[in-house]
Amino acid sequence: MSTPHLDAIWAPLREAISHFREGLDEGPVLPVVSAEEIEKYLYERYDFARPVPPEPLIKDVALMLSRWQVLVGHRHYFGLFNPDTLPITTAADAMAAAFNPQLAAWSHSPAAAEIEAHVLRGFQRLIGYSEEGVSASFASGGAEANHSGVLVALTHHFPSYADEGAAACGGPVAMYASKEAHHSLVKIAHACGIGRAAVREIYPGDDLKLGPESIRQQIHRDRNEGRTPFLVAATAGTTGAGIVDPLPELAALCREEGLWLHVDAAWGGGALLSRKLRSTLAGIELADSITWDAHKWLSVPMGAGMFFCRHRASVQKTFGIQTTYMPAPADSPDPYANTMQWSRRAIGLKVFMALASLGWEGYEELIDHQAAMGDLLREKAVEAGWEIVNPAATLPVVCLTHPEVRAGRTSVSELVRRVYAQRDVWVSEVKLASIGSAIRACITCYRTQPEDIEHLVSALNTALNGA
Ligand SMILES: *Cc1c(COP(=O)(O)O)cnc(C)c1O
Repeated sequence: MSTPHLDAIWAPLREAISHFREGLDEGPVLPVVSAEEIEKYLYERYDFARPVPPEPLIKDVALMLSRWQVLVGHRHYFGLFNPDTLPITTAADAMAAAFNPQLAAWSHSPAAAEIEAHVLRGFQRLIGYSEEGVSASFASGGAEANHSGVLVALTHHFPSYADEGAAACGGPVAMYASKEAHHSLVKIAHACGIGRAAVREIYPGDDLKLGPESIRQQIHRDRNEGRTPFLVAATAGTTGAGIVDPLPELAALCREEGLWLHVDAAWGGGALLSRKLRSTLAGIELADSITWDAHKWLSVPMGAGMFFCRHRASVQKTFGIQTTYMPAPADSPDPYANTMQWSRRAIGLKVFMALASLGWEGYEELIDHQAAMGDLLREKAVEAGWEIVNPAATLPVVCLTHPEVRAGRTSVSELVRRVYAQRDVWVSEVKLASIGSAIRACITCYRTQPEDIEHLVSALNTALNGA
């Protein structure tokens, strides 16, 4: 087998990525394609019988990826928390692949391990966690970080859970989260062996915030029925509406009831980088564990979750393991003994390179700019006759309806369908507890400008007028 010269790869790669980035905002945000069409295309070109040289291969993959995906980096993508990525992070991910540090054990890549630890300490300070006794690690994403939080909480709360599993809980258990919380929690409960019914979904108030009193009532009902509560999962920046649950009140509730507080700040954690927005997340430092995704508001590629926990000993009890083939000191710095993963790529390298190249103030500007675009959208939408249904959100997720929808003359689904038909703006329909359907627009692209906000409002107006 011969491998191609590196230049035969890098030259077309450089060309493909530049071309993609330069044309990003021109492309239709929304692809029109069927699975059959792509399958046929692949069958015709790739039977894996003959080797394909790098240049046509790179060109073709670039073509498929630019044509057949929602262009989440587009300035008119007002979608889920999928950012446009900072160019330096492309280099970082390429370096992680090329140098391929193995992060399972510290001793295999002291460089990458310490780079990650250095960045995590920086974020840990922003959270307000002290240096002592904290465990911080990168994860594939928010789902893994949430999973880690629930596992560590179970191990902490039920002393023989690590060895006995759910049987150690002495019966059914309960964890509390808003109806608006992320549904990864449901899969996590299943995977932890406590069952999906352990997730007690609590209806938030009209402001979409999780009320401590509603949880308290459910805790008492559950205890009466023989369930053992162990955790509250608050959300700092809900996926649907960008709402931050009342963290100090929930922390007080958890103290009184002896429960673990996990704060899911997968997207909202980004607000900690901004001096203007930081107070929105006040109380996050009271959490026992925290999820924060860099691949959402911090504009780095997927996946880059982060998991922080104040109880290092419980993290080690959860993930620690003795093997005959890995080094294992008592207070191990080895990622494999402190996290869910074993073989591990240098997830944190792209976060490190983004932070190093922007600096804290550059990151703050990026966050503040998106928050300002969110405020501008609220202002322009209201001016045009739209109504904001999540007024409690101060972070840049804007959920809208219109008097025409309230009057039953059109529907949110119909409006979103018409926006998609225009193909150059992406928003979504969201169903919010106690509010119902709304159009959801989130500022996720750091390059989005005031004219893009105007464009979005006019696309909504066009949809409303029947086009
Ligand atoms: C996106 C999200 C998650 C899941 O994170 P992944 O990175 O997609 O695994 C969890 N919680 C919240 C609030 C999210 O927005």
